[in-house]
Amino acid sequence: MSTPRVARYLPLLGLMLASLLTQGCARQTDAVQEQQFIAFGTLVDVSVYGVDAELAQRAFADLEQRFAQWHRDWHAWEPGPLVELNTALASKGEAAVPAVILPLIAPAQELSGRSGGLFNPAIGGLLALWGFQSDALPQAPPAPAAIEAELARHPRMSDLRLEDGRLITTNRAVKLDFGAFAKGVAVDRAIDHLRGLGINNAIVNAGGDLRAIGRRGERPWRIGVRNPRGPGVLAVIETQGDESVFTSGDYERGFDYQGRHYHHVLDPRTGYPAEGARSVTVIHPDAATADAAATALLVAGADEWLKVARDLQLRWVMRVDDEGTVHLTPAMAARVRIELDPPPPIRLSEEP
Ligand code: ADP
Ligand code: MG
Repeated sequence: MSTPRVARYLPLLGLMLASLLTQGCARQTDAVQEQQFIAFGTLVDVSVYGVDAELAQRAFADLEQRFAQWHRDWHAWEPGPLVELNTALASKGEAAVPAVILPLIAPAQELSGRSGGLFNPAIGGLLALWGFQSDALPQAPPAPAAIEAELARHPRMSDLRLEDGRLITTNRAVKLDFGAFAKGVAVDRAIDHLRGLGINNAIVNAGGDLRAIGRRGERPWRIGVRNPRGPGVLAVIETQGDESVFTSGDYERGFDYQGRHYHHVLDPRTGYPAEGARSVTVIHPDAATADAAATALLVAGADEWLKVARDLQLRWVMRVDDEGTVHLTPAMAARVRIELDPPPPIRLSEEP
């Protein structure tokens, strides 16, 4: 949810490749129309198939405007409704919920609960302590004692209760940050809007995280998943009907300090960046769930990710561990084509 910085787009090779793959022969047939804009600190790429040019232009303009609005509404540190809500929760323990925030609360609570708290959008305090609630990247990790102190406050989504449009917290440490969720909600809403315009074949791709509906004519939409280490595509997935493909990785936002890499997905149990995986990709019908789930599974370690996948009712998961081994659920193995050359070690997991 950071503001755009040129530096962020340079490594977006995966996205560009994904976009190339989804475009395919757009230029030959003209049947695919595509437009890009910046939102949520990333490049959003909208492709529609078989739509007349006027309708496509209207759809692109609508989505660009809406994405900009959602970015403002759900921003975790720029002045706006979420920052006001967080300020009131911290000082008074309750607040009227802005109408633009309200629809996110219950789903985020539910997904947080089902992920065993690994997806925890109440840890804005910890993210701020690390310096990740800022457009500039942090230079060094916080003092261990400060992390311990923040962990001891145990902010959880279950500390929140909704009563007649008011949000009440039993824990003043709760500070909402929808960085792992808002993009998914936005992509779902964007697809709903396209459908409302009568567009039934489309992709909304926000920085490599996307939802696809319908087909690109004769064949399905084809998605490239970025290699978490180095350039190129790790794998290709063809979407079926209406599906979201979201990836959470340790390479997105982060910094190096004394020879170690620190990234922006934090393990709420330790207070430190999640360890054990380079990236996790999930397929799920709705993008909001896919977004939260990818983050939760990046946090879950080698011993737990399958259980968390089960609790989130996921069938399709691809997890690249910290040695580069690609773990696939059986359903994912049937869907994914590994493109990396030389091919990485692949391990088939149990059914979640
Ligand atoms: P990306 O936005 O790069 O696709 P994610 O969806 O995983 O990646 O979201 C990462 C963002 O989510 C962080 O920048 C931060 O705002 C927030 N976040 C970090 N750790 C967690 C966590 N354990 N639970 C919920 N949100 C988190
Ligand atoms: Mg996420």
